[in-house]
Amino acid sequence: DRIISGEADMLDVTFEQSLRPQTIRQYIGQDKVKANLEVFIQAAKLRQETLDHVLLYGPPGLGKTTLAAIIANEMGVNLRTTAGPAIERPGDLAAILTALEPGDVLFIDEIHRLPRSIEEVLYPAMEDFCLDIVIGKGPSARSVRLDLPPFTLVGATTRAGSLSAPLRDRFGVMCRLEYYTEEQLKQIVVRTAEVLETGIDDQAAMEIARRSRGTPRIANRLLRRVRDFAQVRSNGTVDLLITDEALGLMQVDRLGLDHIDHKLLIGLIEKFRGGPVGLETIAATIGEEAHTIEDVYEPYLLQIGFLQRTPRGRIATRLVYEHFQLEMPEQ
Ligand code: ADP
Repeated sequence: DRIISGEADMLDVTFEQSLRPQTIRQYIGQDKVKANLEVFIQAAKLRQETLDHVLLYGPPGLGKTTLAAIIANEMGVNLRTTAGPAIERPGDLAAILTALEPGDVLFIDEIHRLPRSIEEVLYPAMEDFCLDIVIGKGPSARSVRLDLPPFTLVGATTRAGSLSAPLRDRFGVMCRLEYYTEEQLKQIVVRTAEVLETGIDDQAAMEIARRSRGTPRIANRLLRRVRDFAQVRSNGTVDLLITDEALGLMQVDRLGLDHIDHKLLIGLIEKFRGGPVGLETIAATIGEEAHTIEDVYEPYLLQIGFLQRTPRGRIATRLVYEHFQLEMPEQ
């Protein structure tokens, strides 16, 4: 597993439970999203209505699940959690929906992975708070309408583009989560260190922030590893020296790039003179699936301006040459 992957691994799952901020005020960054949600939450509460359905989208590890829990908390209702791949039959979803209590937040992670037949169960549920169930088979089959309690669906997805239009249209609120700034990540690292009762100095927190690819999950994970290091190798306090050493051993460079990013970028330069190269070709040269590159490796490289996407393929920018101290060929 890549230590700098935004996806949660087994260790993250238990660890993260204790770190999740509980209120919108404790949730660092994403100011635009927070400002919008605060207004919608206030308004819904004043009208004593459920909050409109919310779609949260953005790369993994940016805080979608955390925000769903905060929404439920701020609304003062229960949170029910499931995920697209966990719902296999329409009946599974019907069971979840009929068990909801009035006002509940239903969080569906990876909502783009719901099969179409199940999505269709969601449409009337989202729109009219009801379920259309077919009873019986053949000529005697008939459709029955079942009322549901009003609820708020919070959907999360890494790719808003792969959501079907009818589903997307049924969300009243769409929030796009952005990569975090170094300063925001530093605050997150400091807060996590407090929760873990670990001493950390300013420079070390900043260094971890800088190498976390704009992603809180990665920041927390790096801190956890560096803390192990500090405990074993020194007095337990995380300082810049131990941070540098630990991250160096983990092969996470100054910008949070690892050996796979290096392979991709150096390959692009050495084999293709910096591009443009098609995604499939890049995938073949580094032995990865094209969609993995597109979903997992590439977004951050695009974000920091190392890669450019053009109609003819990917291009390595001047920043890549500078980062690796390589001569850029004349165009
Ligand atoms: P996603 O659902 O987008 O993959 P999560 O909500 O699971 O991401 O967030 C991963 C971890 O990062 C959480 O455990 C949480 O501790 C931390 N985190 C995410 N966003 C924030 C934030 N804005 N402020 C503080 N911690 C955050």
